[in-house]
Formats: sequence, structure tokens, C-alpha cells
Amino acid sequence: MGMFDSFMLKVKCPYCGEEGIIEFQTKQFDCAMFVWNEGEQFTGMNIEKGIVEEVYGGCNSGECNNWQIKRDGYKSGFGRQFYCDVQIIDKRVNGAINIRKDTYLN
Ligand SMILES: [Zn+2]
Repeated sequence: MGMFDSFMLKVKCPYCGEEGIIEFQTKQFDCAMFVWNEGEQFTGMNIEKGIVEEVYGGCNSGECNNWQIKRDGYKSGFGRQFYCDVQIIDKRVNGAINIRKDTYLN
């Protein structure tokens, strides 16, 4: 149905190195279009501390968009996509860890 939840996380793109806030989507929780920002209480699961694995986002920097235009011939708006895990500490979204390229795309 195309529904998901997302995290807004400050990350450095593993392709171009640009740093910014990127939306990472996941279907692991209620898929009710929740958005969790860094520092906010994480309501997806009742955990004190843990890792949400493998959320998916994309970089829309000029360099990463140009990469996609070159590959696909158009700009999808998703950018050049990659994964990270989300660290939860004290029931809050602490930030992105284990930022990694989507090897399928490369
Ligand atoms: Zn990038």
C-alpha cells in the first residue's frame, strides 16, 4: 500500500560525502506515516535501548542526483539510496549508525 514510518536522521552520504538530514523509511512498525526526529521519543517499540535495523533513505545532493540521471535517464526524487541502522537510547532516537551503501545499486 506504500505506507511506512520514517526517521529523520543527520547522516553523511556514503557516496558523495555530503552531510544533511535525510528521511529513512521503514515498514517494521505500524506503517502509519509516523516521523521520528533525532532526540525525540521513539514510539515504534517499547524499548529502552536497542537498534532498529536497516532503514532506507536516499541522498538528493547534486552529485547523487546526477548519478541517477546518468544511470536511469531521469530524476526519481528518491536520490541515491542507502541504508543505516537507528540507535535507540533512553527510549529516544539517538541517531544513525552503520551507514552503508546499497550494494545492489553499485
Ligand atoms: Zn550523496
